[in-house]
Amino acid sequence: MTATLIDGRAAAERLRQRVAARTTQLRTQGLVPGLAVVLVGEDPASNIYVTSKTRQAGEVGIRHFDHRLPATTTTGELLNLVTRLNADPEVHGILVQLPLPAAVDSAAVLGTIDPAKDVDGFHAVNAGRLALGEEATVPCTPLGCLILLREVLPDMSGKRALVIGRSNIVGKPMAQLLLRSDCTVTIAHSRTRDLPALCGEAEILVAAIGRPRSIAGAWIRPGAVVIDVGINRIDDGSGKSKVVGDVDFATAITRAGAITPVPGGVGPMTIACLLLNTANAAIRSHFGAGAEKIGI
Ligand code: NAP
Repeated sequence: MTATLIDGRAAAERLRQRVAARTTQLRTQGLVPGLAVVLVGEDPASNIYVTSKTRQAGEVGIRHFDHRLPATTTTGELLNLVTRLNADPEVHGILVQLPLPAAVDSAAVLGTIDPAKDVDGFHAVNAGRLALGEEATVPCTPLGCLILLREVLPDMSGKRALVIGRSNIVGKPMAQLLLRSDCTVTIAHSRTRDLPALCGEAEILVAAIGRPRSIAGAWIRPGAVVIDVGINRIDDGSGKSKVVGDVDFATAITRAGAITPVPGGVGPMTIACLLLNTANAAIRSHFGAGAEKIGI
């Protein structure tokens, strides 16, 4: 058996097109969604992510306001900036690129973002609403995973789902989304015993670990849908680096029913979902909570 490949690039492109169509319509109603992007320091990977986010925002009709600050920026300066952005009516979404420098109190900065503008979905209010089953802004990566899952499993009701990883930005919200989709959800982490046995039961397996190829194909339940969130840079053997997932793709593809590749799976969905969250934040702020938003 060879698994169906779940094409994250194509799904992200379809989502961007839907966002772009709506922003075009919003413009005629006098609304231009705005995204403020805050980057502190010179981290090369963060720089690449932020450049990609602002470029894609522009392409779908979202105005972006860039704040590139030196690594010496203090917590107080960032809190002042976030407070100003909270009050700016042209800014509907605020993204503070992580990680912030070690000297900055990241929790204080993220906690100061107005939950209505928290397009990353990291604020405790949004995490709480998600956990309560209320309308919430959902973190972009797990939201992207859910969209990809729905492509191959429109009805997940009753499925056994395993999420490996319990971070606040991926594992926990992913588990909440699967629970909302009526799956029976197990969350595994570094202290979990007998991970292979849990994998063997999972009809849906989401790996968000950060350890290259750590989920062996032989562990996977035949026919399972596998979503690989991992982005791990390894030596390809010839001194060059390449990106691989948390799942051993070469063996997993012979067991799974469907699987996301790395790269080209979950990765492209994350930014597309950021654009979706920003456009929806603008719609909510302009037309009220009951307004029709862009669905997933
Ligand atoms: P994280 O905060 O480091 O969390 C990793 C999780 O994996 C933790 O809950 C940890 O358990 C668990 N874990 C570690 N070793 C394990 C093991 N041997 N068995 C089972 N669980 C284990 O990472 P993250 O931010 O969630 O990211 C996870 C991966 O996704 C990374 O590769 C990251 O680069 C990638 N990522 C991709 C995107 C994207 O856009 N595609 C976005 C975000 C993250 P403990 O809690 O017990 O320590």
